[in-house]
Amino acid sequence: MNNEQINSITIVGGGSSGWMTALYLNRLYNHSEKSIEITLIESPEIPTVGVGEATVHSVRHYFAAMGLDEKELLKETNATLKTGIMFKNWMKPKSDGSTHEYFHSFEQQNIARVLDISSAWVVDNRHEQERYDEAISISSHLIKKGLSPKNINSRPYEGVVPYGYHLDAIKMANFMAKKGVEAGVNHVKAMVNSIDVEGDNITAVHTNNGSFSADLFIDCTGFKGFLINKVKAHQENWQSFAEALPCNKAVAIQIAYPEGEQPKPYTEATALSNGWVWQIDLVNRRGSGYVYDGNRLTEQQAEQELLAFHGIDNSEESNKVLRKVHLDMKIGCLKEPWVGNCVAIGLSGGFIEPLESTGLHLINASARLLGTHVTGKDTAQSVRDSFNKIMNGTYEDLKQFIVLHYCLTNRDDTPFWQDVAKTAQYCDGLEDKIATWKYKICEYMDLAGGYITMFSDENYRAVLYGMDHYPSLNIPCDPNENEKIYQEFDKRVQQVTNIVMSHQDYLTNLHK
Ligand SMILES: Cc1cc2nc3c(=O)[nH]c(=O)nc-3n(C[C@H](O)[C@H](O)[C@H](O)COP(=O)(O)OP(=O)(O)OC[C@H]3O[C@@H](n4cnc5c(N)ncnc54)[C@H](O)[C@@H]3O)c2cc1C
Repeated sequence: MNNEQINSITIVGGGSSGWMTALYLNRLYNHSEKSIEITLIESPEIPTVGVGEATVHSVRHYFAAMGLDEKELLKETNATLKTGIMFKNWMKPKSDGSTHEYFHSFEQQNIARVLDISSAWVVDNRHEQERYDEAISISSHLIKKGLSPKNINSRPYEGVVPYGYHLDAIKMANFMAKKGVEAGVNHVKAMVNSIDVEGDNITAVHTNNGSFSADLFIDCTGFKGFLINKVKAHQENWQSFAEALPCNKAVAIQIAYPEGEQPKPYTEATALSNGWVWQIDLVNRRGSGYVYDGNRLTEQQAEQELLAFHGIDNSEESNKVLRKVHLDMKIGCLKEPWVGNCVAIGLSGGFIEPLESTGLHLINASARLLGTHVTGKDTAQSVRDSFNKIMNGTYEDLKQFIVLHYCLTNRDDTPFWQDVAKTAQYCDGLEDKIATWKYKICEYMDLAGGYITMFSDENYRAVLYGMDHYPSLNIPCDPNENEKIYQEFDKRVQQVTNIVMSHQDYLTNLHK
């Protein structure tokens, strides 16, 4: 085994995955002095996927770790702040005819009493009087009042509650490219036409602008996986999640704000007839897209349903829709994203529908994991196996969490909703877990595994209780004790809502 230090890394692909990985590895290896040559090759002819505009909150720690100025990042990407996701229509309408909705925020308050606030809420049957998210999360109160998770003079990357971003995907890749080049990443604009492979190792990539060799190659070429699929046959390496997650297409549009509307500090995910639509608000426009089951709807039907959702009829389309794109989505992941000296990161390594905005987070997680796994020019197979095993577990874990959003539904108005209600069977152990959670609180121990757990028991409870799946409990507790929890929570909501500015004022100040 050759355990010499690696000298060179070549990344192919200049979308979010290519640049996020380049910046991370460059920061890791070359921060104080240059020790590794990092080159990123991207084709000017192949556009990036151009979507992926909402993040989970932990992505801001990535930007912070890269030493990026938060305000500059937000300005350059027309960004707004995001405190969670509002799910609408994922259950039948309520008995009074109103739309069922629940909010999945990034926080749950911790209050030091014998029970946590979430369990107290269940034990006391508080669902009869208040929504779960409003009982346990301050963010839920902030969004009702149109408040921002931070003030304009708050410390960078810090807020009164955890927050992520809505940002323009194309501008973000351009911003990251600028920062990457400033930090010393070599940027080559060229098309990789062919590669040389010896055994499992890539020895060179050939472009219309010369050939490049490296100790390690990173495939960030998007769904096509241009490098990795040449090193290991795709049909052998791919594991599809299509049975569990049947939505395999999306139509994305950009629209101007309807008169009088302002950007919302949260993402919306509204269930439609054969999937769901996202709504992501930037400073200058709204991004929206219908993620749907392409075996049940044609592109044209999906487009019509999306436009109708936004109240846009055919005659208005050319005025109101600024950009429209139809996308095929490959749902699943590679069994081995790392083969020989080639690692697939981003869409080339796997993809799960963007219901919880996890794409950029997965890139960050993969880049960090790579950082702890590259041990030399010829990393040991056991170490590569470890990387692959963790990534596989991470995708399986995420698949399970996304399936949870579907399989708890009581909707039965279309064959799509009737079928997705049964998808728990495609996630190992999920049916048993859901059965147990009818009588017991969902806890961390029920979920812990040997992978990067993206969504923990707090997140599971947000979906379970948001979708009316509470355990039936009979735990004798002192009601006064729980009352103190609710009083403390109300006090915190008061304190926080008194000190933050409105989201709109934050944006106006930021972008002036
Ligand atoms: C419908 C949809 C919605 C999504 N929503 C979200 C979301 O809300 N939040 C989130 O975090 N993620 C989301 N994602 C995921 C997110 O978009 C991706 O994870 C992210 O953009 C990374 O894409 P990428 O860089 O892997 O691929 P791409 O953006 O496709 O980039 C591929 C790059 O490879 C280059 N390339 C390809 N072939 C060659 C070649 N032969 N030679 C040279 N260069 C080449 C291209 O020029 C391009 O630069 C969404 C994805 C989809 C499909």
